[in-house]
Amino acid sequence: MINFNKPYITGKEVHFIYDAVASGHISGNGKYTKICQKYFENQWHFKKTLLTTSCTDALEMCAMLLNIKAGDEVIMPSYTFVSTALAFVRQGAKIVFVDSRNDHPGMDENKIEELITAKTKVIVTVHYAGVACDMDKIMDIANKHELFVVEDAAQAIDSYYTGKDGIKKALGSIGHLAAFSFHETKNIQCGEGGLLAINDDRFIKRAEIIWEKGTNRAEFFRGEVNKYGWVDIGSSFLPSEVVAAFLWAQIENIDIIQKRRLEIWDWYSQHVDKLFEDFKFTKPSLPIYATNNAHMYYLVLSSFEERTLFIKTLKDKGLFPVFHYLSLHKSKYYSDKHDGRQLPNSDHFEECLVRMPFYYELEENEILKALSNQ
Ligand SMILES: *Cc1c(COP(=O)(O)O)cnc(C)c1O
Repeated sequence: MINFNKPYITGKEVHFIYDAVASGHISGNGKYTKICQKYFENQWHFKKTLLTTSCTDALEMCAMLLNIKAGDEVIMPSYTFVSTALAFVRQGAKIVFVDSRNDHPGMDENKIEELITAKTKVIVTVHYAGVACDMDKIMDIANKHELFVVEDAAQAIDSYYTGKDGIKKALGSIGHLAAFSFHETKNIQCGEGGLLAINDDRFIKRAEIIWEKGTNRAEFFRGEVNKYGWVDIGSSFLPSEVVAAFLWAQIENIDIIQKRRLEIWDWYSQHVDKLFEDFKFTKPSLPIYATNNAHMYYLVLSSFEERTLFIKTLKDKGLFPVFHYLSLHKSKYYSDKHDGRQLPNSDHFEECLVRMPFYYELEENEILKALSNQ
């Protein structure tokens, strides 16, 4: 049986967790949290990062930092995970959904500007499958209308965008704020975990306060203030050192993880035409400005019926591909709040996209063997 996902364990996780426990500092913001954050800041040039207990939490921090309040409008794709919208809805925002591109599940950058009103505050980009949105286009629109940009980079660790200036920038380093996920289905993982990346100095100090229950505890421990107390809103967004220690073991191995994932991605790309020649589908395409971080390998079948048959055929052979997302504008929770616009491309990906099994330990031979089963 080949499941859709199998979280990879490097073997060092328990060692670092043991060290964290033995050190006596088990709550958050200790040694492992600091080395993880430093790594991300140095590696991908984020101005400041804060580990969080999930990407959802990091997105909630973004909504708080941007002072989103009832009636504010936030533009984002409908074809995304619930959290992208939920984080802003909790603050009372109205979500204005953009359709996907027709060649890619990511948001159609050319359909954003027509949705902007006097109430629009934020554009949230989702780098679907780790493939960059056209950030020059989005940042230009945001600057013109004085909007903030939050990158939902949950799937986009170690992926890049090359803009008009020819400079290759890490995803998550371009918008004002960005959120990453280390959920066990992501490239590097700690079960549940996330990261807030802050690229605009104005948000750094307040982000630390929101992160630590609305207190200025971080400043206090750096010796910048002589007592700490309640100074703002916030929550307990920081993970314990046990989680950070786990994540550090993954970070240490990120190069070999990424190398192997890219090999698997390329193997799929080279073999799916032949392996699934009985089905009608298209393969993922990559815009010239984007890189591939091998977060997932997906196919877009020609119809809902074709996808249903594809999934059933593979399941019968012990291979478990999955589909996602259910367009948020049609969800049980949000459909009656949506403004009624049709989003046909989002619906198309909802009905036709399928994600192939994808994880570090996946072996190509196992797939070939399963598929040769009658
Ligand atoms: C995984 C994912 C999330 C949620 O991440 P958590 O760490 O589970 O909160 C949000 N947005 C997108 C696009 C995702 O893929």
